[in-house]
Amino acid sequence: MTSSESLFARAQELIPGGVNSPVRAFRSVGGAPVFMQSAQGAWLTDVDGNTYVDFINSWGPMILGHAFPPVQEALAQALPNSFSFGAPTRREVEMAELLIEMVPSLEKVRLVNSGTEATMSAIRVARGYTGRPKILKFEGCYHGHGDSFLIAAGSGALTLGAPDSPGVTQGVAQDTLTVPYNDLAAVRAAIDANPEQLAAIIIEPVVGNMGLVEPAHGFLAGLRALCTQHGIVLIFDEVMTGFRLAAGGAQERFGVTPDLTTLGKIIGGGLPVGAYGGRADIMNQVAPAGKVYQAGTLSGNPLATAAGLAQLRYLHEHPEVYQQLETTSTRLADGTRQIAKELGLNYTVNQVGSMFSLFFTSEPVTNLEDAKKADLPAFGRYFHAMLQRGIYLAPSQFEALFISTAITDELVEKYLTACRESLIEAHG
Ligand code: PLP
Repeated sequence: MTSSESLFARAQELIPGGVNSPVRAFRSVGGAPVFMQSAQGAWLTDVDGNTYVDFINSWGPMILGHAFPPVQEALAQALPNSFSFGAPTRREVEMAELLIEMVPSLEKVRLVNSGTEATMSAIRVARGYTGRPKILKFEGCYHGHGDSFLIAAGSGALTLGAPDSPGVTQGVAQDTLTVPYNDLAAVRAAIDANPEQLAAIIIEPVVGNMGLVEPAHGFLAGLRALCTQHGIVLIFDEVMTGFRLAAGGAQERFGVTPDLTTLGKIIGGGLPVGAYGGRADIMNQVAPAGKVYQAGTLSGNPLATAAGLAQLRYLHEHPEVYQQLETTSTRLADGTRQIAKELGLNYTVNQVGSMFSLFFTSEPVTNLEDAKKADLPAFGRYFHAMLQRGIYLAPSQFEALFISTAITDELVEKYLTACRESLIEAHG
């Protein structure tokens, strides 16, 4: 038995499913998860000493690779000053200044501890601001595990085939409307059917949680226009795309400015941080400025803000990072597409910036229905074949890959060689 296997056996006795977040359990691809010991740059090392090139990067946060020296130094400097005060600190102000400078929609911002907290808080503020009860989300989008979002959700909820979680009451569920992604006519119909009822439309501007799906031309701008017309708060959930698809996120890349934005992952440099922010008149509803309550014992934690600030400053001061990520990711995505084609598979590869997905279907993937056409058993075989070759992918078809700056040309070649062999093995 390997150390990973024995740890997993122990974990299953102690932790539900043996993991602290569902998709880590490898349920959709079969087998047991690998337990990690350490990471450096592009490389992960597991508890048995095996090494892997990381194409998930903690599901997004490690955009500059693991143990990135400026982040490590910032943490080392912060450490002697203790770890939590429960009182305001200088770095929270510096963080707010930088966030507002980087992300177009932010006029005021509040720090929280996770993406889930950010999205839960954002819809509460939208409801408080508008005085309306309902929200609209898109099928296959994942906005964390808040009750209101576990309706036709993506990511782990989708992977496990249980999109509607027990424990979410009918009362909550009835206030969440869902329509297909990229379907503006369906959004219009939902608004018309619920006049003056919709507080917010929340969307992943580029979806990472049903695999990578990009917005159709004009879709985001169309949502913007509808929300303005009907007094609905438009929320871009940029937990994945923020600071990744551009320094200012998808809203910068696509030139559409939402009313509120939710952030997570990269913002913490690998430590737990989230944020929500946007128009000052809306954010001024948040306590203690306004009456919408939201709080957190560890919010703005000194270590988390040290790591987050160091990573964000680096991204802010090195715009060339985004060109590098784009070039590397395009080579990976184009190479994958080409290999699949040569093997007669014609699989769909969707890519936006440093996020991409290989879908095991030859049809275009523009929404959840399309994504579900993928050959999941073949994906499972491919995943394990890649893992055996030292390539660490997301253990689900319904996830994107997140590329870091630590992926060199040599590692691109390593990935493409493994990809070819693994696709053959998966279909052999
Ligand atoms: N929103 C999006 C778009 C996400 O991808 C995620 C997590 O993957 C979340 C929200 C929830 O963030 P967290 O897992 O930090 O709670």
